[in-house]
Amino acid sequence: MEDCIFCKIAKGEIPAEKIQDGKYFFIINDANPVSEGHCLVISKEHYETIFDLPSEFGKELVEITKLHSKKLIDEGKAEGIKLVNNNYEAAGQVVKHFHLHIIPEKIDAKREKHV
Ligand code: AMP
Ligand code: ZN
Repeated sequence: MEDCIFCKIAKGEIPAEKIQDGKYFFIINDANPVSEGHCLVISKEHYETIFDLPSEFGKELVEITKLHSKKLIDEGKAEGIKLVNNNYEAAGQVVKHFHLHIIPEKIDAKREKHV
């Protein structure tokens, strides 16, 4: 998909550190984090939304999300994890290539609620 920023990252045309790498998905840090450790699970191939993903990708999506979320908790970067997936513009999707936000949260009276 031309002019898709996440396709370019997937192909290595734009450099980005892959903090986890799987068969169908990889994880990078979000360029504009809403909390420390905010990252994105991104499909290697171009699919616009979760509804376009082949269902057999679901197992790896859950596994890579669990693995990295647990790592954030074990490293003390999160006490809770918010998972956010925006589908279509009306839901706030800006990048039209599937991605799942992993947002670390901590118990803090002053915290902003991210969703
Ligand atoms: P969404 O509103 O769900 O489409 O969010 C897109 C997310 O992608 C935003 O949180 C952006 O900060 C993030 N983003 C956009 N471009 C990049 C990039 N080159 N590297 C990392 N994150 C990005
Ligand atoms: Zn793409």
